[in-house]
Amino acid sequence: MVPGPEFTATFDVPTWSLAQWLDDATLPSFEVLDTRSAQGRLDVRAKTVRVSDLVLAHGHACDGLLRGVWAMRALFDLAFADAPIDRSDLMVISKNSPCLGDVAAYLTGARSRFGTHRLDDALGVGFQLKQLSTERTWEVREEAGFFPDVIIRWEAALLNDEIPESDKRELLAVHEAAQWDWVREQLLPSTPRDHYLACELDHLELPAPLFEARRSDTLNRLVPAPITLSGPDDPTVHNPVADELTIGAWSARYLQGPN
Ligand SMILES: [Zn+2]
Repeated sequence: MVPGPEFTATFDVPTWSLAQWLDDATLPSFEVLDTRSAQGRLDVRAKTVRVSDLVLAHGHACDGLLRGVWAMRALFDLAFADAPIDRSDLMVISKNSPCLGDVAAYLTGARSRFGTHRLDDALGVGFQLKQLSTERTWEVREEAGFFPDVIIRWEAALLNDEIPESDKRELLAVHEAAQWDWVREQLLPSTPRDHYLACELDHLELPAPLFEARRSDTLNRLVPAPITLSGPDDPTVHNPVADELTIGAWSARYLQGPN
């Protein structure tokens, strides 16, 4: 018999994607709510999103990702305090940066393809947020000068073709080290609200959407839990009074199809 592939559980695999010193640091995390399924209502149980989850979704750890995390933590602390972030009820505006855009989409649940993630490069390192159900709006911006100007100028310079590759191969290493030195020495010792300034807005001008489509997996978010039935795959719904007759009647109706 040919041996099959050996599967290893994810938690047994050494994770190199987050450097040990960063994993050992006290990093912000986020409690989030989502709907239960493609047509489901809002799940009452919160999930925890950590920086390591963001790194896996984004593809790498970087200063931009962490600045986005600090900014989002300051923003959510102001907007929702200790309440979880309902990712079925938010619109976000971010700069069209690979790193900040991913943080914005992942933590808010907003998506450009549904018109809920809008782009505005004038925002720099910051976000604007709209709670769809209440129309309340907030923004957060990184304090000017917090991130070193020399790194900002190298970030732009290293994207143009005028620097020869023989120089660029060395400069990329110095550049990355400078970014991580700043994270270690400036960002990690600070709390999010020290340098990421959040406020509520009276009015928010929304940039045009890239796409607009109805998002179907949040449409039933506010439908209440069943009263007479249990959810066989939903541990949050258990109605001991559900009797066979009621279950049978609803099952029969379902099996008839929606028409
Ligand atoms: Zn990045």
